Amino acid sequence: MENNSKSAVLYYSVRPNKEQEKSLLDFVKSKYGDDCALKLVSDISMKDGFRLVCGNDTYNWNKKSRYEQLKKRINEISASADGNIIPLIRESVENWVPSVYAEQVGTVISVGDGIATVSGLDEAFLGEILIFNGNVRGMVLSLSEDKLGCVLFDSDGVVGSGSSVMRTGKIAGMPCGEGFLGRCVDALGFPIDEKGKIEAKDYRPIESPAPEIKDRQSVNTPLETGILVIDSMFPIGRGQRELIIGDRQTGKTSIAVDTIINQKNKNVICVYVAVGQKASSVKSVYETLEKHGAMDYTVIVCASAADSASMQYIAPYAGCALAEYFMNKSEDVLIIYDDLSKHAVAYRSISLLLGRSPGREAYPGDVFYMHSRLLERSARLSEEKGGGSMTALPIVETKAGDVSAYIPTNIISITDGQLFLETDLFYSGQRPAVNIGLSVSRVGGDAQTKAMKQATATLRLDLAQYREMEIFTQFSSDLDDATKEQLKHGQRLMAMLRQKQCAPLSHHAKIIYLVCAKEKCMKNIQTDDVGKFLCDVVVFAEKEHNDLCERIDKSGTLTDDDRLIITEIAEKVVNGYVEY
Ligand code: ATP
Ligand code: MG
Repeated sequence: MENNSKSAVLYYSVRPNKEQEKSLLDFVKSKYGDDCALKLVSDISMKDGFRLVCGNDTYNWNKKSRYEQLKKRINEISASADGNIIPLIRESVENWVPSVYAEQVGTVISVGDGIATVSGLDEAFLGEILIFNGNVRGMVLSLSEDKLGCVLFDSDGVVGSGSSVMRTGKIAGMPCGEGFLGRCVDALGFPIDEKGKIEAKDYRPIESPAPEIKDRQSVNTPLETGILVIDSMFPIGRGQRELIIGDRQTGKTSIAVDTIINQKNKNVICVYVAVGQKASSVKSVYETLEKHGAMDYTVIVCASAADSASMQYIAPYAGCALAEYFMNKSEDVLIIYDDLSKHAVAYRSISLLLGRSPGREAYPGDVFYMHSRLLERSARLSEEKGGGSMTALPIVETKAGDVSAYIPTNIISITDGQLFLETDLFYSGQRPAVNIGLSVSRVGGDAQTKAMKQATATLRLDLAQYREMEIFTQFSSDLDDATKEQLKHGQRLMAMLRQKQCAPLSHHAKIIYLVCAKEKCMKNIQTDDVGKFLCDVVVFAEKEHNDLCERIDKSGTLTDDDRLIITEIAEKVVNGYVEY
């Protein structure tokens, strides 16, 4: 590289003759001005042809570069042609003239910990993919006056300081298509499940602007999780962002997986993004989904703990790009980010290695923006835009229940509500361990069916009273009858909200459960038998009053007569339990 691009250097294996030298000089002058000089340097490492370097531009006249050009041309023809392509290829090969074009080539200054500093690529832009030695790919993440910082996606073993880097002019993207359903891919869209190549229909940039306000509509259709405690009190609507937050091992992933399983036959496409998880945990999620036939409509995007921080950083964006592809095709999509605290940690390590100054808890200053621009892409699109939706369930892990740490507060403020999972509840056997006082859903209420709204009217209040009462009466022995009654009722409500994993409840089953609770049908049932009793009521109702169940599911309404029928069924079932 020479000063001010006023001099070009020609590297050769066989020195060009006078005539060639003259035409090269003419070429250089026509491109870079008449005062540009040409210097000839012998390079024995080159096997054939020559290489002209002027400023940031490099021209390759060797067999390899010609071969690459021809290969590209043939690929273009075979992609555009349908039918017999042999004559087309023959014709275009015969008429093919190798073109002269400049490649922008930079130099690696330093490399380490998956980060490379590169100089000489003045025109590279933020988010552009660069190609290093040995086809290692990287993405530009920081630009400064004379160098740029780049994260590497593959192992950096073959990239050394002084090696060359090429621009691609392409922003990092994710291949998309229906072929991804049922598959497990990495953050760049390559399959990792040994089921062969995936046919991509589109290529979307991993970062794209969120839908504008005018392209959105309000959340009005429920996205049922099949989990009673959530659907009754913290309903989620299609297009909403609901955070699942809790300490480690409190059933966060289980809620997400149950929600995916519940979307069977409901025309919802699911994307599960695993960030920084153990590969074995992702495998067990995959197996659970497969076992319940949920992989048919699900894609798993995985950047496990063993992957580089850069892969973990782009995985949620890649999953989001894939979800957007389906959303723009008028589909309803559910995306799960498991989990964003590990995502933030990956971004923190990248930022520190790039030399950005650390802020609170050593996270970089833009960590809030990083999550908000990801979660803002969830939306319910307007009818003009096809009416598709993307519902996001981000997961965040807290340490010792501390929701006021940096990342949890950030994400709480970005999302439309949170499901707070509590360790104490989890270990006392109350699973899913949703804390009713701290959880909230801000927009989902509009999306709840009428039947559900009616059935849950007083549930939250009853539970709140029960919890207060439970604390007050912990140490007192002689309680009046009303208090005893209230405690008993509360215990039965809590028992009703316990639910096994991978056992989502249908809409009518949830309504039947809630009506039984409201009408206090369980007052003579032992707490331990509540689950079985409610199951029996639903089985009985489905057998004897199938029309009622179908009506509730279809219309989403509950009449007084329906309520009466449900109470009668419950009474009949209670009679079978009188011996308790
Ligand atoms: P991690 O912090 O490791 O990601 P997590 O919060 O995602 O954990 P899970 O992996 O979903 O938690 O669940 C932890 C354990 O609790 C698992 O062994 C799971 O089987 C069990 N579990 C979760 N939900 C329930 C439930 N409703 N009933 C019974 N067991 C459950
Ligand atoms: Mg988990």
